[in-house]
Amino acid sequence: MNPVLEVHDLHKAFGGIKAVDGVSFSVKEGEILGIIGPNGCGKSTLFNCILGQLEPTQGAVKLDGLDVTNMRPSALNRLGVSRTFQLLQVFPELSVRENLILAGQEHQGSMLGRLFGARDAGLSEKAEQMIGFFKLGHLAEAKAGGLSYGQQKLLDAAMAFMAGPRLVLLDEPAGGVNLTMLGDLKERLRAINAEQGATFVVIEHNMDFVMSLCSRVIVLAEGKMLAEGTPAEIRANPAVIEAYLGH
Ligand code: ADP
Ligand code: MG
Repeated sequence: MNPVLEVHDLHKAFGGIKAVDGVSFSVKEGEILGIIGPNGCGKSTLFNCILGQLEPTQGAVKLDGLDVTNMRPSALNRLGVSRTFQLLQVFPELSVRENLILAGQEHQGSMLGRLFGARDAGLSEKAEQMIGFFKLGHLAEAKAGGLSYGQQKLLDAAMAFMAGPRLVLLDEPAGGVNLTMLGDLKERLRAINAEQGATFVVIEHNMDFVMSLCSRVIVLAEGKMLAEGTPAEIRANPAVIEAYLGH
């Protein structure tokens, strides 16, 4: 069976900066892969190249063995790939429920104007499911902009799951989130992974979060892969301790 995602010798330069410098890895069905590394080491750029937001300078991305390098984000969405961004993508003036429905419509490639239309194609029902699953019931009618930062991050994650994706790339989902919310988020991600067999790649700074959620971890440093292994192997890796964990 092909891996869900394969990244082959990916490079991305911005002028003289080699943001991603020859990264290769693959992700198996149902796996939760963590990506860690200091600020500016190329994690978000790597995601952007995988997801068609940026054109890699060199290298290839495959989904189920199919070459999807430079495929547009909307086309990748239709193939079951979804993401969250490092910076929140929620619409502050819309309610939690409306944000979820809108996210579902974007994945279907339909128009923004359909938000309040009759043809919601099951999205209301899906939104209710996500509200229940992410325990946002008491906030369903609240404007997203009025939620706490942690609640907004939870909503942001929920939005990525509206289309029932099989591969989700999460960019710092726990960034700035308090401990209680962090536990909630981890528990929800674990549940989706187990119940729906969804595959995740998670960029995260919070070491405990990564080490307890992920089955395998990749460490990036200055655009290159410094190490790859189980959380226990990464913790014990002298090069990782030197470059990253020791700080
Ligand atoms: P990380 O997510 O690991 O913190 P990034 O991928 O955001 O790192 O950034 C990697 C490097 O690429 C940094 O040096 C950053 O300044 C640079 N960079 C990222 N995006 C751009 C861009 N659009 N234009 C120019 N340089 C960029
Ligand atoms: Mg980043």
